Amino acid sequence: SAEGFSIGATFNQAQGNEYSSHAHLLDSLIKSDSNCTTAVLEVKLRVRKTPFAKGALRLASFARTEASTSRYVVKTFKRKGQHSSCHRGLGRLAQDMRSQALCKAFALEFNLLLGDSPEYAIDFLVSAFFKNGNSGGSGGDTECMAIEPFLDGKFVKYNGNSGYVNKDPGLVDNPSNQAAQAFSHFTFERSRGQFLVCDLQGVGGMMTDPAVHTADSGRFSLSETNLGREGFMFFFAFHECNHVCRRLGLKTNGKTLLDLAGSRHMQFSDYRMPLDLLQKVRGSSKA
Ligand code: ATP
Ligand code: MG
Ligand code: ZN
Repeated sequence: SAEGFSIGATFNQAQGNEYSSHAHLLDSLIKSDSNCTTAVLEVKLRVRKTPFAKGALRLASFARTEASTSRYVVKTFKRKGQHSSCHRGLGRLAQDMRSQALCKAFALEFNLLLGDSPEYAIDFLVSAFFKNGNSGGSGGDTECMAIEPFLDGKFVKYNGNSGYVNKDPGLVDNPSNQAAQAFSHFTFERSRGQFLVCDLQGVGGMMTDPAVHTADSGRFSLSETNLGREGFMFFFAFHECNHVCRRLGLKTNGKTLLDLAGSRHMQFSDYRMPLDLLQKVRGSSKA
């Protein structure tokens, strides 16, 4: 038994073609987190004892809920302590969910802009976070865990949060890989240099566990994968624009960033989306 909270259930189910009903969301999420609310619910989970995969920080185990036949993944921290603690960690988990909502909003718009090529569609799983009702000993911290749908298929890490780009020859012509690299670039220009979503990994275009670098050090500040403006530099040091970037009219590169960094005040607000893209997005939001 576990108590937890989740955001934006309806938003979570939104697909790219339902974008117009959420058109205002991305702009408001870029401005602030305040649109996200939390709710408490109780869920009974059956979690396999032996994890099926290990990340750098977390263990992933198969799980099922009583309410549905779908497979889920429960993620727990490898090292018990500060990060796994619910007392200290709830604020951080709420921040993770806000960051997932932002990623999802970027993806809805990205998909709309490439609407005639669904093979480039990107989407993100949204996880819920739970306090394990069975783990709290006397006076001890209750353990926190994340649950998300299980992705069946070949799990691929497309890029990392400090410049890593997957150069597997088998991925060169893979549309999800091309879309992933362009998507990271897109999030930077679309947010006018406020955010860069990377650490893209998942099955096909369905991603999980992204990292978000933020220009404002106060946003998503509890996430250890947020490398801020340095993260922007890492990305552009290794990113090579592909045909999806060109189709979206993305222009920034490592040199633009270095020029800006050399000036006394880094000023990212000069970036402008190509006018025709802006019109496409604005036009659809009226529909
Ligand atoms: P890293 O630091 O390597 O990104 P992490 O500690 O953040 O790892 P995750 O990336 O969330 O942990 O999960 C670890 C591994 O579990 C992944 O590399 C992948 O193989 C598998 N995995 C994670 N989420 C899912 C999912 N939803 N469906 C299927 N497999 C998954
Ligand atoms: Mg990961
Ligand atoms: Zn690019």
